[in-house]
Amino acid sequence: MASTIIIGDGPAGLSAALFLAKNDHHVTVYGTDGTAMHWAHLHNYLGVPDIGGTAFQEVARAQATDLGAKLVAEEVTAVREEEGRFVVSTEGSASAQSAEYLVIAGGKTAGKLAESLGITSEHEGVDVDQDGRTGVDRVYVVGRLARPDRSQAIISAGMGAAAALDILSTEAGDDVHDWDSPPKE
Ligand SMILES: Cc1cc2nc3c(=O)[nH]c(=O)nc-3n(C[C@H](O)[C@H](O)[C@H](O)COP(=O)(O)OP(=O)(O)OC[C@H]3O[C@@H](n4cnc5c(N)ncnc54)[C@H](O)[C@@H]3O)c2cc1C
Repeated sequence: MASTIIIGDGPAGLSAALFLAKNDHHVTVYGTDGTAMHWAHLHNYLGVPDIGGTAFQEVARAQATDLGAKLVAEEVTAVREEEGRFVVSTEGSASAQSAEYLVIAGGKTAGKLAESLGITSEHEGVDVDQDGRTGVDRVYVVGRLARPDRSQAIISAGMGAAAALDILSTEAGDDVHDWDSPPKE
C-alpha cells in the first residue's frame, strides 16, 4: 500500500485525506487546526446550505479519521526527499516520518516548505496543473497556496480531491473514480 503525507488540515488537506483513506491508501495529515475556517461561516458550499466553519472542520476531521486517515497535531518544520521518499520533520516528534507522495495543503505559510523541495514561483503561490501536480514528481500543492488570491472552502476541497484521485490513479495505473451507488432497497 502506498503512503501519502499531507501537510495542512484545512478543507484542502482533509479532502485529500478522505479520498485517499476511503480507498485504503495509507495517509497521515499534519496540522494544528489553525485553519481560516474558524473565522468563516459557509453559505456557499454546494449541498450544505448553512454551516459554521468550526462545525465544518469538526465534521471533516471525523469523516477523514473514520475512514482511516491519521491526524497528527504537529506542525511540519522541514521536508526533504530521500531515496524516493518525502521525509517530514516536526517540532513535536523526535523521529521523522516519510511517504511516497506529498501533498502540501498548508496555505500560504507552507510556501517555504515547497521552496525547500525546489518548487519555486515568480509570483505569490505555486503553479500547479489541474490535479495539483507541481514540477516535482509525486509532490502536489492544493488549496490556498495554489490559489492565494481566490480562496474558497469548496475550491480547496475540490483541489484536494483532485490530487487524491491523481495519486490513486497513478498507483492503479489507470483512471480511478470514487463512485458509490445508493444501497439497494
Ligand atoms: C474571515 C474569513 C471568512 C471566510 N469566509 C468564507 C466563506 O464564507 N466561504 C468560503 O468558502 N470561504 C471562506 N473563507 C475562506 C476559507 O476559510 C478558505 O478558502 C479555506 O480555509 C482554505 O482552505 P485550505 O485548506 O486551502 O487552507 P487553510 O484553511 O488555510 O488550511 C491550511 C491548514 O494548514 C495548516 N498548516 C500550515 N502550515 C503548516 C505546517 N507547516 N505544518 C502543518 N500544518 C500546517 C494551517 O494551520 C491550517 O490549518 C473565509 C476566510 C476568512 C479569513
